[in-house]
Amino acid sequence: MEKKLITILVPAYNEQEVLNMLYDRLKKLMDENEKYDFEILLVNDGSKDDTLKIMQELRQKDKRVCYLNLSRNFGKETAMIAGLDYCKGDAVVIIDADLQDPPELIPEMLKYWEEGYDDVYAKRKSRKGETWLKKFTSTMYYKVLQAFTKIQIQKDTGDFRLLDRRCVEALKSIRESQRYTKGLFSWIGYNKKEILYDRDPRAAGKTKWNYKKLVDLSIDGITSFTTSPLRWSAILGIIVSIVGFIYMIYIIIKTIISGVEVPGYASTMVVILFLGGIQLVFLGVIGEYLGRAFYETKGRPLYFVDRYNEEKETNLKVKK
Ligand code: UDP
Ligand code: MG
Repeated sequence: MEKKLITILVPAYNEQEVLNMLYDRLKKLMDENEKYDFEILLVNDGSKDDTLKIMQELRQKDKRVCYLNLSRNFGKETAMIAGLDYCKGDAVVIIDADLQDPPELIPEMLKYWEEGYDDVYAKRKSRKGETWLKKFTSTMYYKVLQAFTKIQIQKDTGDFRLLDRRCVEALKSIRESQRYTKGLFSWIGYNKKEILYDRDPRAAGKTKWNYKKLVDLSIDGITSFTTSPLRWSAILGIIVSIVGFIYMIYIIIKTIISGVEVPGYASTMVVILFLGGIQLVFLGVIGEYLGRAFYETKGRPLYFVDRYNEEKETNLKVKK
């Protein structure tokens, strides 16, 4: 009987310190699980250090290692879809390069996959080596996101998960450029299974996340799954108009009865500033959606490939 192929997909950006460690852990795992064939697909997301060189050395040592070199840094979300496009496995496990996600969990994921689950995701019980501020913002973020969107987004779950081939095909068919993969995992549906784990601190190297990226990603998360901020602004607009209308009637009647009243600077300023502020905020909200539409209508490819293993290549089918 032919063995099933499992792809381990690793997006990596400036990870020269950890790649060898990661390979050692994965090698141990692959050697212990002879029931399956394995492929390690390393996606080099335009690293500026020796990451690519290390990937090439690993490939020379072990042909189960494949690597995909993108033409520049596109960000983790894009690196992941590039990896999904190129993976060959019957199931794919997405894992961070920095060993924050223990590869030792993979056999358990495989067990559930064999039981028929399509998406086995690992949920963090604890997060070592992360500041309380990061934990706090992350909790708040999930709350806000959940309030806005109707789809269930799994709390405390990263991209560490096993996906069946049909989930991979589903994700591949979604070609939006501002990807919020965490939401897409939920959006595609299929049988999901949660397993719990302790998130380790980074093995070495530095985190690539900063608060700007986090804010960007959270806005992408909201704007790519719901238009409810637009609805809310319309509702608030209606409420403010009604209040304004009532106040207008009141002022007109008051002026008719007791004549023109000159003072009123404070109240005028308050109204102008308040309404001006609200208008700017909602212009921003509209702009956010318009911006997304702008990017999507361009229909650019999501990424460009520099090489896949030994082959120099491009992901575009060149038409002559
Ligand atoms: N990563 C990537 N492209 C980027 C930034 C990050 O492929 O532009 C990869 C990175 O190499 C790692 C994973 O995404 O494998 C998670 O990144 P990181 O550990 O910096 O994030 P954190 O775990 O701190 O949230
Ligand atoms: Mg990390």
